[in-house]
Amino acid sequence: MEQYLVGVDVGGTNMRMGIVTPDGRILKKIQYPTDMSRGGLAMMEGLVSRIQDFVRKGTRGVRSEIRVGIGVAGPIDMRRGVLIAPPNLPDLHGFPLREFLQEKISLSTAIENDANAFTLGEGWKGAARGCLHYCGITLGTGVGGGIVVAGNILHGAEGLGGEVGHMALNPEGPLCGCGGRGCLEVYASGSGIRRMILEAIEKSDGKGIVHKSKEGLRKITSEEVFEAAQKGDETALKVFNEMGSYLGLGLVNLVNLFNPEKIVIGGKVSRAWNFFIEKAKEVVWQRAMKGQREKVEIVQADCGDDAGILGAAYAALKLE
Ligand SMILES: [Zn+2]
Repeated sequence: MEQYLVGVDVGGTNMRMGIVTPDGRILKKIQYPTDMSRGGLAMMEGLVSRIQDFVRKGTRGVRSEIRVGIGVAGPIDMRRGVLIAPPNLPDLHGFPLREFLQEKISLSTAIENDANAFTLGEGWKGAARGCLHYCGITLGTGVGGGIVVAGNILHGAEGLGGEVGHMALNPEGPLCGCGGRGCLEVYASGSGIRRMILEAIEKSDGKGIVHKSKEGLRKITSEEVFEAAQKGDETALKVFNEMGSYLGLGLVNLVNLFNPEKIVIGGKVSRAWNFFIEKAKEVVWQRAMKGQREKVEIVQADCGDDAGILGAAYAALKLE
């Protein structure tokens, strides 16, 4: 009997799903906008019927073993399969996702945090392929990450481990959404970049980008800061440099703690790679311990939007 995996990436903006072979080929995929208008539960119910429909069409009724893996943003209590304060689905705090899916879909189902799914996807088919010890970091609206030790994703006691974005780097730093201060996320995320550019403009040590209208400034996005950097805007370049130095500190901690072969960095903010990575690598070289820093490779992700689908499918593949 053939085996198929269905990898699902539940995003705040888009839902993506793919039918994946046990050797990691995506046979078919779909994507549709996330509809949160009727709340999280209705969204999940909609997702279930999409999955059922997708499986039916994708396997054309051929007898096969199908497993489903789902990557969701936010912490998951992996022991109980319960969502903890998901950032995009606030009304699903405490939602027993695993039980819900098993009941509705009646297929073996794995759930995983989305940043862990990204990390697993990159390890299976992407930039960390073949590595047994590696870390993944996603630079998006927030900063997520995953840590793989001896081939296994690190979950910790409740499944809440590997929160790379909430490494505390600066005790006096800006407040973070997690309640802490100076976490990696407040410097290396899209919202962190937005905060830093607004602060830099406030201090008005900027040219170019500073001439935007007041209204325009309030709406400024990290993409616009990236575009400004590409045009050589000094303030934007400074912001990416600062972001790179904090990201570098985060990498130092990962390198010293986990001695990874690779650290894979993805997410939409990583498109500004050339503007922050040299600084980050310089910090790693200055501060990480000698043995570890000489071994680690810091690389860009290469599965693009498919990493989440692949990683969720991989989690399903590895179900006991
Ligand atoms: Zn935090």
